[in-house]
Amino acid sequence: MNVPFFDTQRTIEALLPTLEVELEQMMRQATLVNGAQVRRLEQAICDYTGARHAIATGNATDSLIIALMAAGIGPGDEVIVPCYSFFASLSCVLHVGATPVFVDIEEGSYAMNADAIEARITPRTRAIMPVHLFRQMADMGAIQGIAARHGLLVLEDSAEGIGMRHDGRHAGLLGAIGVLSFFPTKTLGALGDAGMILTDDADYALAARQIADNGRDTKGIAQRNGFNSRMDDLQALYLRLRLPGLAREIGWRAHCAALYQHGLAELAPNVAPARLLARPAPQTTVDYAYVIEAEQRDALAAYLAGRGIGTEVYYPRPLHLQPCCRHMGHREGDFPVAEAASRRALGLPMYADLSEDAVMQVCSAISDFYRLSPALKGAKP
Ligand SMILES: *Cc1c(COP(=O)(O)O)cnc(C)c1O
Repeated sequence: MNVPFFDTQRTIEALLPTLEVELEQMMRQATLVNGAQVRRLEQAICDYTGARHAIATGNATDSLIIALMAAGIGPGDEVIVPCYSFFASLSCVLHVGATPVFVDIEEGSYAMNADAIEARITPRTRAIMPVHLFRQMADMGAIQGIAARHGLLVLEDSAEGIGMRHDGRHAGLLGAIGVLSFFPTKTLGALGDAGMILTDDADYALAARQIADNGRDTKGIAQRNGFNSRMDDLQALYLRLRLPGLAREIGWRAHCAALYQHGLAELAPNVAPARLLARPAPQTTVDYAYVIEAEQRDALAAYLAGRGIGTEVYYPRPLHLQPCCRHMGHREGDFPVAEAASRRALGLPMYADLSEDAVMQVCSAISDFYRLSPALKGAKP
């Protein structure tokens, strides 16, 4: 049996009968972009997250740019971001003409190291943009404390964060503005690109709504500069139909993560299953991704591919070493925790349609790799 890195066929098949009926109705109505289905999804996401305002967008990368624009962040401003994340954490800051300022990540959680933030604050710093990566949130208690002390905005990249909560508050609602991604591989995935902005602030919500629709107000007058980042009704419909099953899916992900944890435990020190730091405030975690740190990561990935098992390197290179920010003058060694993670981290299959058998198969293939690889016998991490 092959185990692809990602598969959503069973979820789609289960929704298809309802989807077909609703889709036909939708297609007979005139509005296929930013229409009635999108409004219904926004309401459903408000209900699920507790957000006062949810603004649909084309994707989470756009959402981050819109969040920065809505907050008035631009040239001359600095935004503190973790150096180990998806490209969007860097590119959104560059797009608005502001300057990204990196901090390293914490060992184990992959989240921005809150202890490293204060040393990076300057008179130009406007915002901190934590990322909730893989399966847990950043240390929001500490980050909010720092932001309050220095009068900074917190904008959350909660693209991976649906379902995650800190002290009961949903990811994306701990700072001024947050985002969600509905890219197909995300915990709540659409049939294509889609994203959202979450905020409790009416002014940011209005600004974000206008920016995402070419700056237009409800009368069709451009109140500010914007661009086109609207959501298709097809995506909104599919997402709304999936939302009621999300809690069950998150539960199944947790079950699969526990199976991995158990199956991989005996492979230490060659494999370190993703750890979870205990946060001071109770966090609800979501197993969006299952990431291990592995000796000979690339050889392991190639071996697994040969056995029909898909994996993905999250992330092959930290942001500060990407060619597109060469001008910032960073070099290897600047952020050692992120650099070590990019050499050892490997994402294993983790999705709602994953079977127990598939997880067992991945674990035994990983175990075979280390058993068959004599150079690794007794290797130290
Ligand atoms: C997926 C992701 C994004 C971008 O989401 P898109 O909807 O694909 O634009 C941004 N940040 C993080 C941390 C992500 O994982």
